[in-house]
Amino acid sequence: MNDYEIVMGLEVHIELATQRKIFCRCKNTFAEAANTNVCPVCLGLPGALPVLNPEALSCAVRMGLALQGQINRNSRFDRKNYFYPDNATAYQITQFYEPILKGGQVEVQTEAGETKVIRIHEMHMEDDAGKLTHDLERRVSLVDFNRKGVPLLEIVTEPDFRNADEVIAFLEKIRMFAMYLGISDGKLHEGSMRADVNLSLRKVEEEALGVRTEMKNLNSFTSIRRAVAYEAERQAQVLGAGGKVVFETRRFDEADGTTKVMRTKEEVMDYRYFPEPDLLPVHLPEEYIRKMEEQMPEFREEKAERYMRELSLTQEEAQILTRHPATAVLFEETLRLWQEGAEDERPEDSETRRAKTIAARMCGDLMYLCREKKADPGQWKITPEAFAELLRMQEDGVITTKTARDVFALMFDKNIEPMVYVNECHLLITKDEDALEVAVDAVLKAQEKSVSDYLSGKEKAAGHLLGCVMKETNGQADPAAARKLLLKKLAERKAAGTM
Ligand code: ADP
Ligand code: MG
Ligand code: ZN
Repeated sequence: MNDYEIVMGLEVHIELATQRKIFCRCKNTFAEAANTNVCPVCLGLPGALPVLNPEALSCAVRMGLALQGQINRNSRFDRKNYFYPDNATAYQITQFYEPILKGGQVEVQTEAGETKVIRIHEMHMEDDAGKLTHDLERRVSLVDFNRKGVPLLEIVTEPDFRNADEVIAFLEKIRMFAMYLGISDGKLHEGSMRADVNLSLRKVEEEALGVRTEMKNLNSFTSIRRAVAYEAERQAQVLGAGGKVVFETRRFDEADGTTKVMRTKEEVMDYRYFPEPDLLPVHLPEEYIRKMEEQMPEFREEKAERYMRELSLTQEEAQILTRHPATAVLFEETLRLWQEGAEDERPEDSETRRAKTIAARMCGDLMYLCREKKADPGQWKITPEAFAELLRMQEDGVITTKTARDVFALMFDKNIEPMVYVNECHLLITKDEDALEVAVDAVLKAQEKSVSDYLSGKEKAAGHLLGCVMKETNGQADPAAARKLLLKKLAERKAAGTM
């Protein structure tokens, strides 16, 4: 293996989360009863005519802009002819001669912390096939056409990858583009993003590329790592023994970690691509592309850098807050609302301070809650309005930090108006000084040991006593006032010399 260098190129399919399918008006949701989201177009009935969904087109253009390629002002569709039971039309509508995007580049961070450019060969639009289920017991195969006609983008890279880390970094980046553009959740394990890895080996000093194999069925980053390691080793053994790598499509087997032949590439039938006669070419005016450019969001890396630069967040906080756009939105909106609702003398200082507070609550409690509840970011009921209100109450000293955190946790899956809730549950910090005194006296009486520790010089014991006072008041005491009174009483005892 050491004599060889790994060379890889990717074909990445992204399923678009449009309202409707790409060439008909069927709903784009296939997680429903089989064959309910179908019509004459996606069932390939004779005479039915496809029409391009403009929403799918705009998704493609925006992804094309993110990939920094050349948007094709005159793209068109082609027929790729093949029969398969999950494809009722007996052809797939794709783009072969004039794809929507030519060229492009994506920067990824390598292991060594360097930036590497992965060149994009092209990206095209196409429709997805239906889904086959093989029922071995009944010895039948079932077909569901709900997925047939779901819009796909296929991104084809140049063979620029040299190890699995680069592949994963690239896919992660494409997934971020898709999520921030709001065009797909890009989940590998749910099939909304699918990657085929083409892999060949070449002698370290050689220039020409070796014969490759294409690997399919890679539905997690772990599978990709395992498949790449296995396939590279397999090819190295073939070459090492003086053999030749066969140009073929291989399937990764999750169970045993090997790749197995699916079909040899030489046997692939001639698809007889020809321009799709039922669809018009797509002409994009300059104006349209400019409009799409204006709608481009701030992507993860720029966002994370801005959080560090302008809001003094740590790199780790910035990474966590930008891993999902829903998290970034909650962070930014909460900060904006909290700032707006506050009257500050020096707003700049308070902005970084507040950003820190929000970041801490989100990176800690919120991420913990997501893990605990196995929820994706955004699957929470927390709104920026409620979150900001809660933080404002904490800042104004009307609730304790503990109350704020408890209410925040409740807000995860309940719509709660913090102000109303805190009032109803009597969680406001009490200003009742008599009640506080009663609580402090009770604690001093009950915690003899800590009191004597304190009086004999162990100042740490005061912390424990304060905790007891807060507990005694159900967390409603103003911590500062409680501390003051506690220390005052302790000082009195010391002076009196009584224990
Ligand atoms: P096909 O149409 O058969 O899938 P393409 O020429 O479109 O073939 O290439 C598909 C992918 O394979 C691209 O990502 C490309 O970068 C990659 N690729 C092409 N040649 C090689 C090679 N020798 N080794 C590794 N990857 C390759
Ligand atoms: Mg291919
Ligand atoms: Zn349809």
